[in-house]
Amino acid sequence: MPISSMPTVASAVPCPVVESLDAILPEEPLLMMGAGPVPIPAAVAKANTIVINHLGGTMVKVIAQVKTMARYVFQTQSKWVLGVAGPGSAAMEMAISNLAWEGTRVLCIKNGFFSDRMGEMGRRVGARVSTLEVADRTVASLEQIAEAMRRERPEIVTVVQGETSNTVWNYHLKDIAALAKAAGALVIVDAVCTLSTMPLEMDAWGIDAVITGGQKGLSSIPGVSLIAFSDAAWARVKGRTAPNAHWCLDASLAENFWHNAGYHYTAPVSGVLALHEALRLVCAETLEKRFARHLKCSLALQDGVTALGLQLYAPAACRLNSVVGIEVPAGLSPADVCAHISRQHQVEISGSFGLPIVRIGQMGEQCREHNLFRTVHALGRTMVDLGVKVDLPAGVAALERGLSEGK
Ligand SMILES: *Cc1c(COP(=O)(O)O)cnc(C)c1O
Repeated sequence: MPISSMPTVASAVPCPVVESLDAILPEEPLLMMGAGPVPIPAAVAKANTIVINHLGGTMVKVIAQVKTMARYVFQTQSKWVLGVAGPGSAAMEMAISNLAWEGTRVLCIKNGFFSDRMGEMGRRVGARVSTLEVADRTVASLEQIAEAMRRERPEIVTVVQGETSNTVWNYHLKDIAALAKAAGALVIVDAVCTLSTMPLEMDAWGIDAVITGGQKGLSSIPGVSLIAFSDAAWARVKGRTAPNAHWCLDASLAENFWHNAGYHYTAPVSGVLALHEALRLVCAETLEKRFARHLKCSLALQDGVTALGLQLYAPAACRLNSVVGIEVPAGLSPADVCAHISRQHQVEISGSFGLPIVRIGQMGEQCREHNLFRTVHALGRTMVDLGVKVDLPAGVAALERGLSEGK
């Protein structure tokens, strides 16, 4: 049939006219200095362009190396390391939905927005969740936590290492895990923003499940995450009678892909390759050097911001270094600041779920000197532009002093 005589069918939904990505994306990529996603190294970006068979010999090798490197990053000998197609929250839901079910007693230590999410996920699988509410900008004392454990007798305790929302660091984590262990509870730790930015020792601290995302400390792409279960946690996963209602997140089914070279669902191969490269770069750097780089950069940033004349949100004792919270001066909103610094200086930073702060991340590639100078300068200039009196040269000088210390 000649083309001209082919019947034409008017589609009920007309073909849309849209802009190309080139027209939508900024000409120069924004410097991603918010609470994630963060900039990715070239090796990660390159790996993310590759598609390979999700099953077969090459993938088996990649998965084996991802698990080996992840064990180093989690500091665990546990066999039970798995990846998850999904955000950090999917890894979180994998931990909760495999370890908790109808009637499970869960104690959720709630420092803010993200640590509360674990409690919410617990309620959704029918667990009996009790929440230890911790005041903003503080951590619960060990006495408070011990008291809550005596009262609630939890089978599972959930806690965040770094509460990204209000930039609080749970520095008691090791002792909290020890308390939970002594009380016979399993401990789930959200290390989404902190993993590979500060010490976390899964085995030595007795943690039963650690979760992380790709797009924060690891400097990989968003959407592929990691989880590790201890032997005790894995025994609970295997011992449950009713299967996990979340089929994609069922750890027993995921075991087939992550440990038996079989099929569960089609793995996000490009993202797994990107994660492989991100982990390889962590191993090449070593955790010790990576922690030192993060600490030095974050403290220098904090000095720079303070010298500008701005206030940090979290008190020094429980201040998270992985994400720095900065009070927004009276008369301005976080959205004003974020919009201006993005538009005028091509630097992206974050607000925070209704809190009067902006947040600058110090995760992975964000902890590079050139990124810090650009960010402190852009933040200072933004304040000047918006009518806030700051001392921009003093801020940049303090950053420089912090970075050059010990050189
Ligand atoms: C970002 C973050 C999450 C959520 O991660 P998603 O990838 O957005 O699901 C959870 N917990 C903490 C501590 C985070 O920083």
